[in-house]
Amino acid sequence: MRKGYVRLAVPEIQTDSIVDGEGIRSVIWFQGCSHNCPSCHNPETHSFDGGVELSIDKVKKMIDELEYQTGVTFSGGDPMMQVEALEELAKYVKEKGMNVWCYTGYTYEEVLELAKKNNHYIKALENIDYLVDGRFVLDLKSFDVEFRGSSNQRIIDVAKSLKNGKVVKYSKYK
Ligand code: SF4
Repeated sequence: MRKGYVRLAVPEIQTDSIVDGEGIRSVIWFQGCSHNCPSCHNPETHSFDGGVELSIDKVKKMIDELEYQTGVTFSGGDPMMQVEALEELAKYVKEKGMNVWCYTGYTYEEVLELAKKNNHYIKALENIDYLVDGRFVLDLKSFDVEFRGSSNQRIIDVAKSLKNGKVVKYSKYK
């Protein structure tokens, strides 16, 4: 990805979602994912050539225009696969006073492994309030786990996890 650009699945921000995290949320759909979870709901977001490339400045302008939103959710695709763009946009959302949720097919522990070679993963995590982690596992598909597709996925309180050096789940959602 060119520096200063991000590849998104759709060229706009989806607003007023109540299924992609707590509250009324805006969703930024990243393009590109190589996890290949069987029965993924968004296979059209897998290709790293698909979707549309936008400048990060343009996405920031779209964020500026959001109204009456609790926060922004980064989903996809896997936003961690464009980690520099994720870091910059998550930081921007936080500066605007909104909270940040992020979905990734990596586990939290895998993100920390990636961070050993690339500090942008830590910087991205530092600007994410709640990380919904792990691949979608068809055998563990469940309608009882809020905001998730399968029961292996966790909603992680990132600040507490970084501080404690171990995964701390968001206490509201087990
Ligand atoms: S991580 Fe998400 S987008 Fe990627 S294959 Fe798995 S379910 Fe699909």
